[in-house]
Amino acid sequence: MKFVRVGIVGAGQLGRMLALAGYPLGLRCLFLDRGADTPGAQVAPTLIGDLEDPKLLAELAAGSDVVTFDWENISGRALEPLESVAEIRPPRPALEVAQDRITEKALFSRLKIPVAEHAAIGTKQELTAATRKIGLPGVLKTRRLGYDGKGQFVLKDMSHIDAAWDAIGGAGLIYEKFQAFSRELSIVGARSADGKTVFYPLSANVHGGGILRYSVAPFANAQLERSARLYLKRVMNALAYVGVLAIEFFVVRGRLVANEMAPRVHNSGHWTIEGCVVSQFENHLRAICDLPLGSTRALGHTAMINFLGKMPDRDRLMAIEGLAFHDYGKQARPGRKLGHCTILKAGAREPDLALSHALKVIEWE
Ligand code: AMP
Repeated sequence: MKFVRVGIVGAGQLGRMLALAGYPLGLRCLFLDRGADTPGAQVAPTLIGDLEDPKLLAELAAGSDVVTFDWENISGRALEPLESVAEIRPPRPALEVAQDRITEKALFSRLKIPVAEHAAIGTKQELTAATRKIGLPGVLKTRRLGYDGKGQFVLKDMSHIDAAWDAIGGAGLIYEKFQAFSRELSIVGARSADGKTVFYPLSANVHGGGILRYSVAPFANAQLERSARLYLKRVMNALAYVGVLAIEFFVVRGRLVANEMAPRVHNSGHWTIEGCVVSQFENHLRAICDLPLGSTRALGHTAMINFLGKMPDRDRLMAIEGLAFHDYGKQARPGRKLGHCTILKAGAREPDLALSHALKVIEWE
């Protein structure tokens, strides 16, 4: 094993689950984040301060063999000086391309991965022109820093242009044609530095208000799975990627349309902790630490449900057979991801029943 000390930029729940997966492997994680009570800081040592503070980033790199990310929006400029001190995995260009919805879609298109028709928007006039050219309905989004449905506005007709502009108007937007999808799917995979790849089964995801509510996996569709793997592999190879990468898709008229990618472990892959031989968190660490990648084989059929805004009644939920409970140790706030549960079952139909049972206990705020 070449790398043992893992620096993680951001100490949210993704970082926390990485650190927890790292302990059995003998890895030691060090976080950088703003707060002393973040989910990651509760389980591993943490440097406290701004995520782009050059001194703290240098300290993080100096104390690490490899630096990785819970929060992928750190600027390339802030990362560049670290490259001579520690391995940066995934590599800086992969983060940079994923930080901007326009460059991300340009990469997908270059790699012959279908995307929604779209246009870069800088002014209200450009938005009006784009709604005419691309059509309505459509979604106006910020190019950068949008997540969990933040910085998005759905336009149904021309009368919505002013309201959309008042809500998120400004330079740096993208207008996308609304996708009348039958499903949302995602694929998570890992690539090692020597180019080996592994892929998890597809996950079917249900969003509400732009936030992931629950996922069911594996989603069995051999043809869509083949396409998703092919697309993910193309992106990984094009970026000389190291680590876990996720792509979210819409299924439109039976084919995949890529929405966005995440150069990190992904919420729709949380089910792999209990649902697969080796989780996405462990495989990310294996990839970035030059350890052999682990089996992504599913152990059964799973449902994963997010706890949003409010923690559920633990006793009632934990009484459900086959349920695993995850509390991220965060303060409750409307819409905030506070934890999740996974229900692993042997039969294909069983997770649906358990899911509807669990959904009766869980309230989203
Ligand atoms: P995003 O932040 O791009 O992942 O969007 C969050 C969620 O909003 C997606 O998972 C979809 O449910 C919905 N959404 C985003 N873009 C579109 C689109 N072009 N057409 C239809 N739904 C969309």
